[in-house]
Amino acid sequence: MKKNQDRQFGKLVVDFVNAPTAEEAGSAFIRGAAAAFGFGHGFLDQALGRYPTLQLFEDALSAGDRGLVELLLEERRLLSVVNNLPCNISLASYDCDEERVLTFKIQPLEPKWDNENPYEEDVVRVAVGTGGGKWLDEVAEMFDDRAPLTTEMDEVRERLLACLAEYITLTDRILEIRRDIPPERTHEAQKMAAYHSRIQAEQDVLAELQERWRMILGEVLEAQDLSRDQTLLDLLLVYNMVNRRETAVSDDGALYEKPLFEPGYFTERSGLADEYYHNVLVFAFIEFLKVAGNRKTLRKCARCDAFFIAGPGRTANKRCGRCAKKKGPGTRV
Ligand SMILES: [Zn+2]
Repeated sequence: MKKNQDRQFGKLVVDFVNAPTAEEAGSAFIRGAAAAFGFGHGFLDQALGRYPTLQLFEDALSAGDRGLVELLLEERRLLSVVNNLPCNISLASYDCDEERVLTFKIQPLEPKWDNENPYEEDVVRVAVGTGGGKWLDEVAEMFDDRAPLTTEMDEVRERLLACLAEYITLTDRILEIRRDIPPERTHEAQKMAAYHSRIQAEQDVLAELQERWRMILGEVLEAQDLSRDQTLLDLLLVYNMVNRRETAVSDDGALYEKPLFEPGYFTERSGLADEYYHNVLVFAFIEFLKVAGNRKTLRKCARCDAFFIAGPGRTANKRCGRCAKKKGPGTRV
């Protein structure tokens, strides 16, 4: 192992957890990996340059497209609210250009046993028409006919109707704008909206992982009996699965052990976001803990609750580097 590599692995995990935002957690992860695995300088530029962030999105968004992209994002948000209501009805599509018809998919409340697929969804179409709120009455009627009859459903019904009314107004506005611009620009705006949603989804995963790892670090730090600590045992399960070295043969016939995480893992990123981060964090954290005495250096700042790794011989430090610099009551200098 390279000198101090174990501590670099610990730092990777701690920096990830401490990052003030999910966006910064993502870049802390890349920076931490570059330092711990010893990837060269070119790696960092390449990996960060490709790493999807809201900042990168902002930089790529042209002023002319901004308005439409914002409307498209709001459209996506409303759709997701509608389709995540705790109920058996979802909006499958809306043809806003031609027929102006909402297509709903409805899970049957009772299995249809005489049907080949008893759970087949029903399809209901509601024509929005060109004006007035008659279609909303139709949606309300459809809901009353087909959703379960409980009091909790009253609230769901109100939210569905409110969201749909907002959704139709919004799609009308989007259509108006689209009619005034060339199709390529609409296409570009749709691409940007999809890009934004992808980044947002990734950051939701990052925020969850930060929370999960904050708990993991807290538990491992405080565990009285590590040999029975379920959190650590679970991490070891993942570690043993991830830590499988492959031996390969090079062009000149030499056998060599392939590194576990190569730069390509971080630049040609593939797979589920959750595992992508978690596997590296587990590997890094266990590599850190494997070195005797390291666990004692993992600490939680008494002032700001950030985790930190105390320097060698400074395991008594109660404050992180940043707080230690600030003088205040109880500061140890
Ligand atoms: Zn602190």
